[in-house]
Amino acid sequence: MIELKSAAELDVMREAGRVVARALAACRAHAAPGVTLRELDEVAREVIFGAGATSPFLDYHPRWSPSPFPGVICASVNDAVVHGIPGPQVLGDGDLVSIDCGAVVDGLCGDAATSFVIGTATDADLALIDCTERALRAGIDTARPGARIGDISHAIGSVARAGGYGLLRHHGGHGIGRAMHEEPFVPNEGKPGEGLKLVPGVVLALEPMLHAGGRDGYSSDDDGWTLRTDDGSRAAHVEHTVAITVDGPTILTLP
Ligand code: MG
Ligand code: MG
Repeated sequence: MIELKSAAELDVMREAGRVVARALAACRAHAAPGVTLRELDEVAREVIFGAGATSPFLDYHPRWSPSPFPGVICASVNDAVVHGIPGPQVLGDGDLVSIDCGAVVDGLCGDAATSFVIGTATDADLALIDCTERALRAGIDTARPGARIGDISHAIGSVARAGGYGLLRHHGGHGIGRAMHEEPFVPNEGKPGEGLKLVPGVVLALEPMLHAGGRDGYSSDDDGWTLRTDDGSRAAHVEHTVAITVDGPTILTLP
């Protein structure tokens, strides 16, 4: 069942998205060598709770996890792809960090992620992040009334594979609204013309997760949350919440 959002609901989701964008920007500005992931979480908490919003990440406890999530951001460094716990790990020069963040305003969610390098970046890391951002852009550009989920999946996957990158297996984007994760699932690779046809009012969180090593496999840390590339290669993850409107795709997670 796909919940279509009204114009009034989209306005509220844009508010939630604005809080997410501000939290991500604050994390990026604060991130530096010597800073811990927990400190970045505290920075995001100040933005989210300071705005009167709540966090859909904090205490999130899906069936597959052994424990509730303890932060308001996921912070995934280097070979960690997604769902990293913002704990005592200290950032160092050259680390590739992916921050994923959500916010809830008046019962409606926003969800976005960004990837960046601390200090000195290698060309390989910059190319990986650039391709991940281009894959997201291609997916967003496809999210128009009349297009199908498979068109979005194909757009994202084509950019990633053309770059020679892997894609985190079994993971992708999702519908979003009153719950952070709603139907439909949006794979990061797929066939054009397949799947649900998009209509105005559908809201999707699109989120390519690319592996530098070109493989799709991953392993899970003992914490039950952090997912890592199985070949130790670095990964990048970017995400926006996007509304399908009569005028085309509208990104809701902008500052
Ligand atoms: Mg997210
Ligand atoms: Mg998401």
